[in-house]
Amino acid sequence: MLLFEEKKTVVIEQEIKNSTPIKISHSNSQDNVNRIENMRKSLTTYVVVGGGFAGVETIGEINDFIKESIKDYYQNIDIKDVRVILINSGSRILPEMDEQLGNFALEELKKKNVEVILNNRVIDVESLSEDNSSEENQLSLRGPKKISLKDNSYIIADTLIWTAGVVPEKSVINIACEHDKNGRIVTDKYLQIKGFKDTYAIGDCAFIIDPKTGNPYPPTAQHAIREGQVTAENIITSLKKELKSSKVIEIKENEQKKGEFIESGKKEYLYKTRGIMATIGKRNGVAMIFGHSIKGIFAWGIWRFFYLTHLPTLENKIRVMIDWGVDLIFGRNLTRLKSPIETKDMIPRKNIGK
Ligand SMILES: Cc1cc2nc3c(=O)[nH]c(=O)nc-3n(C[C@H](O)[C@H](O)[C@H](O)COP(=O)(O)OP(=O)(O)OC[C@H]3O[C@@H](n4cnc5c(N)ncnc54)[C@H](O)[C@@H]3O)c2cc1C
Repeated sequence: MLLFEEKKTVVIEQEIKNSTPIKISHSNSQDNVNRIENMRKSLTTYVVVGGGFAGVETIGEINDFIKESIKDYYQNIDIKDVRVILINSGSRILPEMDEQLGNFALEELKKKNVEVILNNRVIDVESLSEDNSSEENQLSLRGPKKISLKDNSYIIADTLIWTAGVVPEKSVINIACEHDKNGRIVTDKYLQIKGFKDTYAIGDCAFIIDPKTGNPYPPTAQHAIREGQVTAENIITSLKKELKSSKVIEIKENEQKKGEFIESGKKEYLYKTRGIMATIGKRNGVAMIFGHSIKGIFAWGIWRFFYLTHLPTLENKIRVMIDWGVDLIFGRNLTRLKSPIETKDMIPRKNIGK
């Protein structure tokens, strides 16, 4: 059985030549047809690993972007062949949000035909590309990849997006001090590296316990910025004290055992998250603002407003506002870079025959 009409095969061959180095003979054998079909599947499968903020926002956007683009421009691709897959090791997505919002996000993604795999994790990624130019043991970034999961299943996809967390730089991991299991530096409540006076660790590389919850503060910008401010104040306090040549540190005996200094005048890091937000594709989102749960278009509107107001420079704010406004009215503006062997321009589906 032939899987494609003859005219489509030419387009597919072009796609393959452009995107993967696998060679195709011009014989019409079943092998080649199967090979092309596998390649097509791999090219139209998009996998995002990690169901946190970055993963959910990425999958929502990518799903809308790819499916809208195919519907409007890529007549040779059947939208049913496109798979957009989110893999999350936990039992629910957006674990930082309350359960109801996480479930809402999950249902919204499913409604848009995103395949969500929960309670499973990626254990290996192997390149299936025949490109031998990459160094041994290095994953070839181009071409199909076999993404193996813990339950022994696997997915073949050209596009893999990793949003399952980051670990600090090797140089940070190698510092001789206490680290958490991911290599982040453990600090005391003044943000000093545990056991080290006037030596600070802040931002994503630091493991700082929220005294109110007993859990570590999340690695987000709203904390990193405030940790920077507290650290600056504490450094100034230390310098002022040194200038006065006063006694700088009082160490309580019982605290000393834990390697924690009690410092007079220094500021503790205490910050309550004011809000967290995530978009889940076009005009949809979830937010928790001052403890209130918000979902749908309203949450998405708050998200946009917040990030717009936080953009640096008025010029940038105006540019982005205009761009978002135009996008709302006319939809996305796509630009596709033509490969040298393509002769025809990309025509939107709606303009065909005009
Ligand atoms: C996709 C994504 C979305 C996010 N969205 C949000 C959000 O909506 N809200 C929010 O609050 N947070 C968000 N975060 C988290 C936020 O970006 C981080 O928490 C924040 O940037 C941490 O700040 P930082 O200064 O610790 O690290 P970074 O901002 O990562 O800065 C570290 C800097 O150090 C440089 N560097 C690294 N190694 C070296 C080296 N060896 N020598 C010199 N320089 C080096 C890097 O180039 C970088 O510029 C998001 C993160 C990601 C990845």
